[in-house]
Amino acid sequence: MAKRDYYEILGISKSATAAEIKKAYRKMALKFHPDKNPDDKDAESKFKEAAEAYEVLSNADKKARYDQFGHQAFDGSGGFGGGGNMNMDDIFSQFGDIFGGAFGGGGGFSGGFGGGGQRRVKGSNLRIRVKLTLEEIANGVEKKIKVKRKVQASGTTYKTCSTCHGTGQVTRVTNTILGRMQTAATCTSCGGAGQIIDKKPAGADAHGLIIKEETVSIKIPAGVVDGMQLKVAGKGNEAPGNGISGDMLVAIEEQEHETLQREGDNLHYDLYVSLPDAVLGTSTEIDTVTGKVRIKVEAGVQSGKILRLRGKGIPNINGYGKGDLLVHVNVWTPKTLNKQQKDFFETMRDDDHFMPKPESTDKSFFEKVKDMFS
Ligand SMILES: [Zn+2]
Repeated sequence: MAKRDYYEILGISKSATAAEIKKAYRKMALKFHPDKNPDDKDAESKFKEAAEAYEVLSNADKKARYDQFGHQAFDGSGGFGGGGNMNMDDIFSQFGDIFGGAFGGGGGFSGGFGGGGQRRVKGSNLRIRVKLTLEEIANGVEKKIKVKRKVQASGTTYKTCSTCHGTGQVTRVTNTILGRMQTAATCTSCGGAGQIIDKKPAGADAHGLIIKEETVSIKIPAGVVDGMQLKVAGKGNEAPGNGISGDMLVAIEEQEHETLQREGDNLHYDLYVSLPDAVLGTSTEIDTVTGKVRIKVEAGVQSGKILRLRGKGIPNINGYGKGDLLVHVNVWTPKTLNKQQKDFFETMRDDDHFMPKPESTDKSFFEKVKDMFS
């Protein structure tokens, strides 16, 4: 397969500046990072391809040679030799430069590649559930939650792993019919960290960790949905030595509201009005997620009418405004009447004024449903 042009790989023009080259590579590296694309061979090869392109284009001398001779500049005696494949260690060693050390030297990744060099171990994730009321969801809330985390026990000391001498990898030499072959593998004594525990206090586990109860404050944005999972980076279990902490994964649980029903960002409220109120009109208080609100019910309201209170719903989690509160009018009809009431309605029954005469503005049920979702 023909090698792709380095400028094309990074999606830049030949006149790109050093800063533009760096920026383009950073974007590619993040997009195709193996941590984000586990077990994706295509992403891994794109990741390597981008690293190779950057390796050449970020070096003035190599760039000049590439600009003049193309890929041939590196054939045979070239910097990468033959296939030009960089290994993952080479790639990660570029990262200090690209990401300002954010990922640490040769590691900082939980994924780990077979045969990688020294890497930082990541602590396990902590999973918790948080129950929220509809009001808390609508307004956003800060929750203080007691959690039990594994943290490094004070007094734990580390020493360089004697198996790998701190490199995190071991080299094995095997004799094959092709001659002696060297293979590098992650050190099993230290898990690739390069360090092992020297001394640990009583109560600490094999990794020098103890369980500690902590109160963690979690800011929950408005508009979260039942079943959604929020990640609080670095608040999971700690890792031994120079490892990095895992994350706290917060599962959202929505408590049922007494009078309001949620449907996406919209809320529904069933309003019951008496027959006289429906005929004469009234005003009444209803629940909203920001407290009670008084609404007017027009004289002659029809049962099934939907009053829309714009913006009284739930804020969209992605910032697309707020939902509405839809108030469904239900005219309450009494099941029993006394003699006097019965006589009253008997008189009304014969009055032509009480005969249903739907106007074109009295929408059918199906039209109303259509409206609700528009
Ligand atoms: Zn080791």
